[in-house]
Amino acid sequence: MAKLPIIRPETPSEGQAPVQSPLHFAASLAPRRVYIETFGCQMNLHDSQRMVSLMAAEGYAPTERPDDADLIILNSCSVRDKAEQKVRSRAGEMKRIKKSRPDVVLAIGGCVAQQEGPRMLDRIPHADIVFGPDHLSRLPELVRGVVDGQGRLNETGFLDRAEFRFAGISDQAPRQVSAFVSVMKGCDKFCAFCIVPFTRGREVSRPADDVIDEVKRLADRGTREIVLLGQTVNTYGQRKRDDQIPFHELLARVCAVDGIERVRFTSPHPADFTDDQIEAFRSLPELCPHMHLPVQSGSDRVLKAMRRGYSRAQYLEVVDKLGDVAPHVALGTDIIVGFPGEGVDDFEDTLSLVERVQYRSAYSFAYSERIGTRALDIEGSIPVAERFDRLRTLQALQDGITKRYLDEMVGTRQEIMVEGPSKTDPSRVTGRTGQNRPVHVPGAYPPGTLVEVEIVEAYNHSALGQAVAVEGQPVADGAPATIEDAG
Ligand code: SF4
Repeated sequence: MAKLPIIRPETPSEGQAPVQSPLHFAASLAPRRVYIETFGCQMNLHDSQRMVSLMAAEGYAPTERPDDADLIILNSCSVRDKAEQKVRSRAGEMKRIKKSRPDVVLAIGGCVAQQEGPRMLDRIPHADIVFGPDHLSRLPELVRGVVDGQGRLNETGFLDRAEFRFAGISDQAPRQVSAFVSVMKGCDKFCAFCIVPFTRGREVSRPADDVIDEVKRLADRGTREIVLLGQTVNTYGQRKRDDQIPFHELLARVCAVDGIERVRFTSPHPADFTDDQIEAFRSLPELCPHMHLPVQSGSDRVLKAMRRGYSRAQYLEVVDKLGDVAPHVALGTDIIVGFPGEGVDDFEDTLSLVERVQYRSAYSFAYSERIGTRALDIEGSIPVAERFDRLRTLQALQDGITKRYLDEMVGTRQEIMVEGPSKTDPSRVTGRTGQNRPVHVPGAYPPGTLVEVEIVEAYNHSALGQAVAVEGQPVADGAPATIEDAG
């Protein structure tokens, strides 16, 4: 679970890879307030940002306290059991607020809402609105409906391609130095373990001009980093509609927008990677040298059972091509262990693949059964304790690789984009390198500042740097400095 103003994903999974994106809210005198809790993935994180934007246009300012809110939104996730249970329990806790202030509107969105539909209104009698991801752009209308006395509302049907509308950024939305831009919704892949195609519907790509307009608007409002978001982002435009272009061309157009310093995209599907997409890492300097490329398993047998649509060799071919064209690109991945039927030899194939690729980071999970997915029909369930044993083995291997990369960074110079104050030490800020590595730096630089640092110490998952230049201006003797010091 995460709360505004900084929303962070809790359980990253494919198409939902981990990239932090702080929100920086402008002051608002609006009398009404919206509180959002976001569960799950980056897609939900992005949806929550859009909800904030839509409700800002209605005069709702964000608040971090549900007790202060006129509108409470729980943006639910059904990818993992834990997140699903949490949203139910949080909805229960909101009863106290509804009891003391019946006018507060409680809305439940996201994937659990989509799955449950009207049943959720039955189970949570104090909820006013249940809405699926397809209906996000109608949130203001739904809230107005409840406020105007239309009763409790359920909007969880899927919209077809012609009806679906991507929710753009409003002028009243909080400014962000790093912003997600959705280029597609839904997924057509139907991997055996995944609930997404059943909760977010079929894939719809957004018109290219619409994407670019949003990037330009964000750049005009001070955004410096764009993260293009899609469940299988690199299948963008595959249907070749007139208003779409191939994904590598979209990347080039986004990189060319004035004011955009960094561009990322997440998450590509390995089976859909083209040579043009790989070449983009060499030809587009704004494209960050980092890619999250979910593999899920290193075993051909398990990949087939998962219905992933590629073999181990095909996956490694993409990795190797990328290594040839752009060796500076840091790879991350998602891995599931303990999938039904996964033998010890299959698990060892996963370990050997991790050794071979040498990922900078990996989000790994013990398989968990999700109702409605095809994996439930696969025989050979792995005992839960065994799944977690394998997970620990995998994570120990990956931790060692990650630490080695971090140790190798010591003494190098890196450019970071500042995200905000360090969570643990207010005398420092935290930013990310282009390779998506968190670096802490003494000083007080505003979010979005580009700071060149020398790495002086490696931690387990991040590093400590000393500023040597701020926005291209040298810092005297590497001493901690503020942006003002740089003149
Ligand atoms: S079905 Fe497969 S490709 Fe689609 S979102 Fe789920 S894991 Fe990713």
